[in-house]
Amino acid sequence: MKITFYGGAGEVGRSCIRVDGKETTILLDAGVKLAQQNEMPLLGKEGFGDIDAVVVTHAHLDHCGYLPHMYSQGFTGNVYATKPTLELANVIISDYLRLSKPKDVSKHGTEEMVRHHRFLDYFKSYRIGDFEVKLYPAGHILGSAMVELKDTATGESLLYTGDFNMRSTRLLDPAYTEHLKADTLITESTYGGDADVFPPQREVLNGFISSIKETILTGGKALIPSFAVGRAQEVLFILNDYMRSGILPQTNIYIDGMINKAMRIYRHNVIYCRDEIQKQILMSEDDPFKSKFFHVVKGRQERGKIASGNESSIVVTTSGMLKGGPIVKYLQRSAGDPNSKLIFVGYQAPDTPGRKILDGERTIELDGKQVKIEMKVEQYRLSAHADRQSLMRMISRIEGLKNVVIVHGEPQKIVEFSKAVDKKYKVYTPSLGSSIEL
Ligand SMILES: [Zn+2]
Ligand SMILES: [Zn+2]
Repeated sequence: MKITFYGGAGEVGRSCIRVDGKETTILLDAGVKLAQQNEMPLLGKEGFGDIDAVVVTHAHLDHCGYLPHMYSQGFTGNVYATKPTLELANVIISDYLRLSKPKDVSKHGTEEMVRHHRFLDYFKSYRIGDFEVKLYPAGHILGSAMVELKDTATGESLLYTGDFNMRSTRLLDPAYTEHLKADTLITESTYGGDADVFPPQREVLNGFISSIKETILTGGKALIPSFAVGRAQEVLFILNDYMRSGILPQTNIYIDGMINKAMRIYRHNVIYCRDEIQKQILMSEDDPFKSKFFHVVKGRQERGKIASGNESSIVVTTSGMLKGGPIVKYLQRSAGDPNSKLIFVGYQAPDTPGRKILDGERTIELDGKQVKIEMKVEQYRLSAHADRQSLMRMISRIEGLKNVVIVHGEPQKIVEFSKAVDKKYKVYTPSLGSSIEL
């Protein structure tokens, strides 16, 4: 088996891994890296002419955003993933195309991409050429999967985690870790650093809720930037729960950007959520997806009114790292108000405005305007990823494991994590564009 890293090696973004079996070639993920200039996987001179199929782990752009580019350039293989992944991918890819307008993507290519969608269920074995493919729940976002590949021609096996979470969340069960078996593990390492120890979830939640309560009581706005898919839905469910139980004062929760569209896909794929959520919908009058506290912001005019009004409220909106999106508008208006708060709940990539603010910068350029941040800034790790200890636990759960390949992490985290992995495994920290032969 030969594995080539077109992206997501030594970085977070543009995950794209080529796996050459004896007869069949599969691409695991096809993501983009959103940066000042968006970066694409480095496919090199092989291109994708000889790739038989793509398997996508989940609907975040760093794992699926490259698909429309591939189909616009003539890729004809199928793209395999769970049903919610492909449905959510459609939503976030169309948003990405609308905002980024990449020159090498055509309408025809995007249609071809959708025509080549093939749904896979968790836990079932499928054949793609010589590969046997099986998906397991990854606990990261709705439909997210870990991919097991077995080359039937050689008997070699590989497990690719994609992004995963070992703790259960409001909406999802944790990553599946029973009876996993593989020769090689390719694992993410977003929070694999020595200092990446997540405090107990309860503690984080308490801090988050009392911070929001304080903001509401002092008449400010709580701005929560979030990816459209994943954190946003979790945060909305948490807020709804605490408001219903009376712990949080009742206030409007404004939902802006693509979050509501993604929410609808969560709702109609509720069978992929935890049992409790399914029961809640079936057995009670209250549909948690349609809380009376949620208000979907319809368009620019309403956004402007909410952003500049004095109403104390909670706003959950995109983009998660403050690189454009409706959050910019809210932030420009609230930044100078010391009673308001900017609350980070997700990963902030280097060089994004979100990361700069977290690192202490208080004058930030947003949408071409210099904005002085006088509002409070806080961070709560409601992360959808595994921390160091959970990453280690995943490794220890895999039977027959020989090789551990570390991807999807900032360089320093990968170095730290690789040193911590048990010496009985052969550890690889591939660089961008490199290959390993196993
Ligand atoms: Zn992700
Ligand atoms: Zn990712």
